[in-house]
Amino acid sequence: MLGRKRPEPMVDSSEAFPPPTARAGAALRLTVSFMLVVVMAFLAVEGWRTWRDYRAAFASARDSVTNLARATAQHAEDTIRQVDVVTAALGERVEGDGLQNMDIPRIHKLLVQQSAIMPQLHGLFIYGANGQWLVTDKETIPEPANNADRDYFQYHRTHEDRNVRIGTVIRSRSTNDLIIPISRRLNNPDGSFAGVLLGTVKVSYFVDYYGDFKIDDKGALVLATREGTILVRRPFVESVIGKSLVDSVIFREYLPTSNQGVVEAKAVVDGTERVYGYRALTTYPLVVEAGLSRESIIAPWRRDLLKTGVVLLFLIAILVGFGLIVLSQLRYRMSMEKQIRSAHQTMKDMALTDSLTGLGNRRRLDSTLADEIRLAKRQGSSLAMIMLDVDYFKRFNDKYGHAAGDDCLRAIAGAIQKTIRRPGDLAVRYGGEEFTVLLPNTDAAGASKVAQDILEAIRALRIEHGDHPLGIVTASAGVTVSQPSTEDVTPAMLIKAADAFLYLAKNTGRNRWCSADASQG
Ligand code: GH3
Ligand code: MG
Ligand code: MG
Repeated sequence: MLGRKRPEPMVDSSEAFPPPTARAGAALRLTVSFMLVVVMAFLAVEGWRTWRDYRAAFASARDSVTNLARATAQHAEDTIRQVDVVTAALGERVEGDGLQNMDIPRIHKLLVQQSAIMPQLHGLFIYGANGQWLVTDKETIPEPANNADRDYFQYHRTHEDRNVRIGTVIRSRSTNDLIIPISRRLNNPDGSFAGVLLGTVKVSYFVDYYGDFKIDDKGALVLATREGTILVRRPFVESVIGKSLVDSVIFREYLPTSNQGVVEAKAVVDGTERVYGYRALTTYPLVVEAGLSRESIIAPWRRDLLKTGVVLLFLIAILVGFGLIVLSQLRYRMSMEKQIRSAHQTMKDMALTDSLTGLGNRRRLDSTLADEIRLAKRQGSSLAMIMLDVDYFKRFNDKYGHAAGDDCLRAIAGAIQKTIRRPGDLAVRYGGEEFTVLLPNTDAAGASKVAQDILEAIRALRIEHGDHPLGIVTASAGVTVSQPSTEDVTPAMLIKAADAFLYLAKNTGRNRWCSADASQG
């Protein structure tokens, strides 16, 4: 039965467990996996937290701009309504008196009073049908005093509606301030155009109010007409006043569908990316926008990210450093174990090897023989043994010297090793000039054939032996075959039997083999 599995000698019961190097390898993989898992977990948790913070920053910015838009809208509405109410009452009175019959000093006093109690007011003015200044809250009337060219004047002259009209920002002729004109038409009793009543609101009043809000440097607060013309803006830059926002996303896309909302957009005025809250006033055709720059929303989040990033990197570096130390320790242990194992193996091999011939030694035979008997018993196979002894070797030594004797033994060992072919066959030097060959699963005929071949191979070496009747080195062999499954066989019995047939071979003329069934030279 070729390829039969040969049992390894049972040396160490701990070999039933994974060998130490395999355990160290598993520990190595476990360490690397653990490190990877921990690093991934760190990154996942921090990534999730960062994403949550990012969203929270924007959610809070949206709330802020909504509140800001609401506050500024309310403020604008209150400011305009007060002027609306005052001019309505004044208009009523002036129309009642008739513009021609107006008691100018009394009306002037009234205008001064009203103007004094309304901080937003820049002035109150009454113009006649031709645009001439009739009365104001100011002490003097500038020359030339005619406002017929003003936009609001032209409007009221040609439009009959009695509501207040909010104009775009102009520069005052009396004070040179930037003002928002809030005007209404005055009629004669017959309904014809009698003039214009004008209340002007200081742009600076809004600028001051907007300046009080705590928003970032790039934040923006805008008051504009419903048509999109900017009236007031923070940050205040005069050249921006009067510019149009009709092309902005809010005016183009959002206001037509909703009076209030939150938009992320790039400002048309300064190109800054902002989160805007916008709101159209309910009573007046005005729109407010409150924007916080994307930059200022992200900045604290980014700072936080940087800080946690540094801490995270630090932690990962510590972890990786620690892991590397553990890994290097493991690697060192693995290489040490490997060295120890290979040294151990070498010692084991040396302990079982004959140093002169390189064959196994008697210890090797002892450790293998018992196992082979057990295996043969289990498998019901036969086990053969050949015991070999070099003929007249003492004489060889005496004639050629011990060193030549050693050479001869080496050559014979080589011849024996070359002759046995099966992987399970084992040749050992039993001692001195004696060799043993163990042939598992081999019957009597097979074993005799191997013995015959070995003797022939030794003769074929043609080592000169002057004190041998044949003139060359020969050997004798005893062959025994056992059937451990059917008979009781021990290693000693097998050796004894082989030895007995060797003795027989010696006694019947040497240079031959003997077995229970036959013998041959
Ligand atoms: P026989 O044919 O009956 O076997 O005679 P023999 O001389 O071979 O037998 P004997 O047992 O009397 O002698 C064995 C000799 O083998 C003794 C010793 O000189 C020699 N011998 C044993 N071991 C070694 C060895 O390691 N090296 C050498 N060179 N010679 C050895
Ligand atoms: Mg001998
Ligand atoms: Mg001998």
